Amino acid sequence: MGIDVLGRGSAGYDQNRGTFNVLLSQEPAGIVTPRTPGEVIDAIEYAKAEGLRIGAQRTGHAAEPLGDLGDTVLVRTAALNTVSIDVDRRIARVGSGALWGDLVPRASELGLAACHGSTPTVGIVGYSLGGGVGWYGRKHGLQCNRVTAVELVDATGTELRVDAESDPELFWALRGAGGDFGVVTALEFELLAVREVFAGALFFPLERAAEVFHTWHELTRTIPDEVTSVARVMNFPPIPEIPEPMRGNSFAVVEAVALLPEAEATELLAPLRDLGAPMDTFATQPPAGVAGLHMDPPEPCPYAGQSMLLNDLTGDGIDALLDAVGPDSGTQLLSVEVRHDGGAMGRDGAEHGALSSLAGEFLLFGVNIVPTPEAMAPSKAWLGAMRDAMQPWDAGRYLNFSDEDEDIAVAFPAPTVERLRAAKAKYDPENLFHACHPVVSG
Ligand SMILES: Cc1cc2nc3c(=O)[nH]c(=O)nc-3n(C[C@H](O)[C@H](O)[C@H](O)COP(=O)(O)OP(=O)(O)OC[C@H]3O[C@@H](n4cnc5c(N)ncnc54)[C@H](O)[C@@H]3O)c2cc1C
Repeated sequence: MGIDVLGRGSAGYDQNRGTFNVLLSQEPAGIVTPRTPGEVIDAIEYAKAEGLRIGAQRTGHAAEPLGDLGDTVLVRTAALNTVSIDVDRRIARVGSGALWGDLVPRASELGLAACHGSTPTVGIVGYSLGGGVGWYGRKHGLQCNRVTAVELVDATGTELRVDAESDPELFWALRGAGGDFGVVTALEFELLAVREVFAGALFFPLERAAEVFHTWHELTRTIPDEVTSVARVMNFPPIPEIPEPMRGNSFAVVEAVALLPEAEATELLAPLRDLGAPMDTFATQPPAGVAGLHMDPPEPCPYAGQSMLLNDLTGDGIDALLDAVGPDSGTQLLSVEVRHDGGAMGRDGAEHGALSSLAGEFLLFGVNIVPTPEAMAPSKAWLGAMRDAMQPWDAGRYLNFSDEDEDIAVAFPAPTVERLRAAKAKYDPENLFHACHPVVSG
């Protein structure tokens, strides 16, 4: 066996066990940092020989739902970070260590875009295996359904290339049900021919949240699939890391990306932009320009989050949300965002994977930075108030956004759960793989 297994106390163990949420401390039985698919095979053979399980991780963004790793060898994939783009076929091929930030600027220079999400530092493979809700989603669907091939090492230690022809059932399960079927070494997926987008954000004082959110919600009822947008409440803490004029201030924010020429997008977004935001950053730009639009923290930090899918919000739903987290609520969550889903993300397709479509019309995500232990209780209380207020519109969960260890039945229809469990029994009968949001819980 040609791999080093980093054990507790060994050089490199602490450097390789980090998570995006620094409140967590994961302590796997061992860590492997493969540089080749062959070393992934070695890692799987090692885990099996030692009677351990195996889990793959790139960034540790989704470390919380993984739970205890005391019986698990963790494969950290950062070194498998190759990226190549076939411009003629509009296909990207990435190693499992690639981040969206490794691909998007390069694709953008070639007049191409990917169905990436809001943050360049998210791992492409983890995002894609769990679904992938991004800026072009209403027009082009979930990223998992743009995947054309997955290369992985399976529970027998065999390297496989899985696509719609080679093994339709495994290919189906991989696209939405996370890393529960193998350690992925590479992924191929379709890119979009996009040279320019019209994108930006509007920042209003938080006191105008009701007017802004209701105008946005009305717009979502008719806006075409070419526009994907988000409405947010944001309370920026008064800390030096936050730039002026955000630092210490609260805003109602609308962000949008339109796959349309500027004139057409401007006309569609007029009801919002005519509200006269003191800060309006909308501009025509290459796809790489949207990387910072959502302002997610680039570095690991301490936080608590909560999320749910929402059925079509009525005006009452907007009022309920703002009562819980708006200007008069007394809450101070860093961000409460409502993403407009639907469109192609809400439509099933015969050729789609296990996450064929997203339930509901909107995706709610609240998050707070928790810099001290004392900040946890109020953060949890505010997130709980948000969740309770939106219960009447609850449409289930999108597992990539869920930090809780939840049964997959909250995210998939019953026949899909049954089919996934059958696939797990077939491809990983010993439950060797330890994924976040496992197909078989417990
Ligand atoms: C700041 C931030 C912004 C985000 N924005 C979005 C967004 O806009 N849209 C969206 O849909 N999601 C978004 N997410 C959620 C993100 O997609 C999930 O957390 C995803 O799981 C991250 O993948 P990762 O590889 O970076 O994380 P990791 O924690 O490293 O991996 C997550 C899971 O993916 C699986 N996995 C990863 N690599 C492999 C592999 N090589 N083989 C097999 N399984 C593997 C495993 O089950 C692993 O537990 C965001 C998360 C954060 C923290």
